[in-house]
Amino acid sequence: LSSSIQKAQRLIGKSGTLTKENMKDPLKEVRRALLEADVSLPVVRRFIKKVEERALGTKVLDGVTPDTQFIKTVSNELIDLMGGGVGAKDLEPGFPQIILMAGLQGVGKTTAAGKLALYLKKSKKSCLLVATDVYRPAAIDQLVKLGAAIDVPVFEMGTQVDPVEIAKKGVEEGRRLGVDAVIIDTAGRLQVDEDMMGELRSMKAALRPSDTLLVVDAMTGQEAANLVKAFNDQVDISGAILTKMDGDSRGGAALSVREVSGKPIKFVGVGEKMEALEPFYPERMASRILGMGDVLTLYERAESAIKEEDAKRTVERMMEEKFDFNDFMAQWKTMNNMGGLQMLKMMPGFNKISEKQLYEAEKTFEMYEAVIKAMEEEERSDPELLVKSMARRRRVAQASGRSEADVAKLMGAYTAMKSQMGGMSKLLKLQKAGADPS
Ligand code: GDP
Ligand code: MG
Repeated sequence: LSSSIQKAQRLIGKSGTLTKENMKDPLKEVRRALLEADVSLPVVRRFIKKVEERALGTKVLDGVTPDTQFIKTVSNELIDLMGGGVGAKDLEPGFPQIILMAGLQGVGKTTAAGKLALYLKKSKKSCLLVATDVYRPAAIDQLVKLGAAIDVPVFEMGTQVDPVEIAKKGVEEGRRLGVDAVIIDTAGRLQVDEDMMGELRSMKAALRPSDTLLVVDAMTGQEAANLVKAFNDQVDISGAILTKMDGDSRGGAALSVREVSGKPIKFVGVGEKMEALEPFYPERMASRILGMGDVLTLYERAESAIKEEDAKRTVERMMEEKFDFNDFMAQWKTMNNMGGLQMLKMMPGFNKISEKQLYEAEKTFEMYEAVIKAMEEEERSDPELLVKSMARRRRVAQASGRSEADVAKLMGAYTAMKSQMGGMSKLLKLQKAGADPS
């Protein structure tokens, strides 16, 4: 638990209502948490002011303690600011969609262009990548290689042609090929300068892109606000991609982007691989920025999302050592209701889990679900059948479209979870304690 947030909670304590007086110190702690997460100072100031106003106007609900109410208000405000409950904002439509990548050098534009192409391809949209970074020959090469790796065509004209010209020709080529989307990779600069902005403006005027996505490195820190402002003022971005969220950054840049430009973060980059692109989840980001995924879980979500009956049943079955695949799935779904695998973060040993690991864990659980769905009813309620029969495991693998290694992985996870019954039931008791506001 982030110490600032914990302290903020303690400061309000459990008595009275939210007043200017008793919120003063807790607000200071929230401010500190935001600054630690690299949210830009002016953004922090405006945010704190907003939270204060909002919290003062809120009645402390029956059965909710003021400290819970306060933390809830902080996190709701943060989620609101970053895009409300809508989840991922998708790309703008267009025929073809023309997506212009913008951003400083080294932030991950070229990588993100490739990732987007793969993302679109997975949703059955064809793409053309266009290389306009003529200042570094290696940059064109890089995009060509990425394109080859994900099997997406790349349009390039070498380094001797004007970038705007290449972009125009690229879009023409995209129309000729009949692709759904043309993604234009551009050249960054080390700093914001007129050269780069002029080039982007000309491209925008010539191409009328459906999206102009500012790629921002999550590690940018305090500078993110100025950077976003410059790009938004000069080229009017439609959204942003926050890259390198697999690193240590708490993601404060996300708040700065949204607050300064009013534009949504559309995607988050969580690794160097082409698959490492996720839609943006404001709730996830909010809890990461505040370092309070566990607070949300224990207090807010636990109050509404957990189905106590389910939990009780699972605990009882665990105690009776009747833990089958149905329970395994129910357990996972309960966790999912409570804010996805963020829950894992509050389990001992999982505190250090990164966004990338979370992403991978989610993929793994998707696989579990597919495999379990492919089982016969008797296998779901009696996992021993699968433990004993290779033929059954093979059949399940085939029916689920997954590999036998995947089935083996599920069996391993199931066995491990079963043997950790003690730990799991403890966790469920913790959840119940959190759900109880007294
Ligand atoms: P560009 O100059 O903006 O085109 O940046 P590149 O796409 O060439 O990326 C610069 C470096 O950042 C490369 O080494 C990439 O592999 C790396 N990179 C890009 N996105 C991510 C990400 O989401 N996570 C991590 N860890 N590295 C990334
Ligand atoms: Mg590049």
